[in-house]
Amino acid sequence: VPVLRLAGIERHYKEGAGRLNILSGANLSVYPGELVALVAPSGAGKSTLLHVAGLLEKPDAGDVFIDEKPLGELNDANRTIIRRLQIGFVYQFHHLLPEFSALENVMMPQLIRGLSKAEAAKRAAELLSYMRLGERKDHRPSELSGGEQQRVAIARAVANAPRILLADEPTGNLDPTTAHYVFDALAALVRASGLAALIVTHNMDLAERMDRRITLNAGKIVEF
Ligand code: ADP
Ligand code: ADP
Repeated sequence: VPVLRLAGIERHYKEGAGRLNILSGANLSVYPGELVALVAPSGAGKSTLLHVAGLLEKPDAGDVFIDEKPLGELNDANRTIIRRLQIGFVYQFHHLLPEFSALENVMMPQLIRGLSKAEAAKRAAELLSYMRLGERKDHRPSELSGGEQQRVAIARAVANAPRILLADEPTGNLDPTTAHYVFDALAALVRASGLAALIVTHNMDLAERMDRRITLNAGKIVEF
């Protein structure tokens, strides 16, 4: 059973009197523990696809399913709840809170969800150890290297144990060696937790190391 399924997704924008079709019948299934690379040129609709999959934008037609539950009928409040609990986001730039330690940054989503400080700290420490940052947990983002910052961001993205991980060039700002190291940590976490991961990348070496590679062609998803 796919964790994430996109079925017949359409998304268009008004352009003058006409219509600009960005997604026109995009279909995709991502299974537990699977890493899917999304590789496509600028303007192809990658961000739009991630926003639809991440419940940040509603499709104009089609639906998003998580664990085969259709989400199209949810109201905005429930979409936000599902997004916070079921979906983790990682970006090219880490967006960590500069005034807080690595541990506190990873605790934040859990505190927002209503967990106690003790529970949040326990899980955050476990995740940071898993990401080989046990020794760095009390450092602020500015005291960490780029690769360490991204590993903290990945730990934060999965702090609430989501089902889906969506990443937009998570290693795009790193040198090749660090990119591979960060990708290894991300992939291990995805496989160990049975997450469904959709990862935008321009790095073909990393794309080759994922389970499948897809691109966008005229608004449809094509494997390559
Ligand atoms: P990518 O991430 O692959 O670069 P995007 O999903 O950001 O592609 O954008 C796809 C296309 O949709 C681009 O041509 C972009 O200009 C257009 N687009 C994105 N968002 C909007 C919007 N809110 N209004 C109009 N056009 C948009
Ligand atoms: P909200 O801002 O609606 O309260 P959340 O805080 O639940 O949404 O956001 C969940 C994730 O989605 C966060 O990682 C946040 O950075 C990301 N996010 C929210 N809005 C956008 C957006 N417009 N574009 C890209 N990512 C976003």
